[in-house]
Amino acid sequence: MLIVAGLSLKNLNPRVWDPASPYFVASLRAVMVSYGDFHQMPSQRKKAQEVGLHRYLGVPRRVKVYLDNGAFYFLRSGLSGVRKDYQEFVEMAKPDWYPIAFDVIPTPQMSDLTQADCYGQTMQANRAFGHDGYVPVIHVSRMLEKYVSAVQRNPKLSGKNRIALGAIVPNLLRAPKAMSYESVLSNLLSVRKTFPEKDIHVFGIGGTATVHLAGLLGIDSIDSSGWRNRAARGIVQLPGSGDRMVANLGKWRGRSPNTDEWRKLRNCPCPACGAHGVRGLKASGVKGFCNRATHNLWVLLEEARWLEKHISNDRYARTYRRRLDNSTYAPLITKLLEMTARKEIKSA
Ligand SMILES: [Zn+2]
Repeated sequence: MLIVAGLSLKNLNPRVWDPASPYFVASLRAVMVSYGDFHQMPSQRKKAQEVGLHRYLGVPRRVKVYLDNGAFYFLRSGLSGVRKDYQEFVEMAKPDWYPIAFDVIPTPQMSDLTQADCYGQTMQANRAFGHDGYVPVIHVSRMLEKYVSAVQRNPKLSGKNRIALGAIVPNLLRAPKAMSYESVLSNLLSVRKTFPEKDIHVFGIGGTATVHLAGLLGIDSIDSSGWRNRAARGIVQLPGSGDRMVANLGKWRGRSPNTDEWRKLRNCPCPACGAHGVRGLKASGVKGFCNRATHNLWVLLEEARWLEKHISNDRYARTYRRRLDNSTYAPLITKLLEMTARKEIKSA
């Protein structure tokens, strides 16, 4: 499973993709930038269109550049993007992966009627971008079954070898009227089974434990900005564990690491801890942020590697309990392993 590191144009540090950076993470294979950011920064947009996203970001060819269409930004800001502008951006900036414009994200609180309206607008956009490499987007929502059959019925959309799933985040964050974790899982599982040949991307998940769920579901790629958001709040991720607060930045509270976890952090071989140790993780300001973000991303990539290895040699079911101490997700993984015979899940 490919882990796509979400970036922010407002602050491109730490430059984890750049071999010349002290924060270079060699195992990183893909990054994601949002069209929402370019929409807000016309001069950056112009530059990216002139030289292409790879050169603009200084991302080497072996690292893929994914583009997010900014649907979440447009949802939150109440603004709307212009399809023609988006298409021009895609054609000139040449991302390696890019979704249709623009899906309209439903939230769990919406009435059935409003969700149906989001569905209608999103399917219209999917059909309008039936050509070329635009990846169709469908939403984890009460409309998911409708989406799936609409894609199946449309020869252009069903012929595409990729599909992306959005709107999962409000459900995982337990927004009011959020779907139960179980329905989210069975939704994802049914999409995987319906489209066994398609490359499935899921937007916006990337906690240590959700990586396990996505891997077990046979999802091909996920993106997350969680490594940066957590770092900004003083939080680090640990292999197989939930979040731990290591830097007291005043505004946020959280669980501190225990003795064993501090030991793990002292021995962490990631590029940031290797150079600056625990002191670097605890630091304030940009330096602390860069150290924690680099560490978090490295942990996520290592988790995906561990997962892939253990799923492929069929040791996962015997080892995951020892690996995961996260009380929310461990029972879900047990459930998921029960819900489906292992052979039905495409290898991660
Ligand atoms: Zn580290």
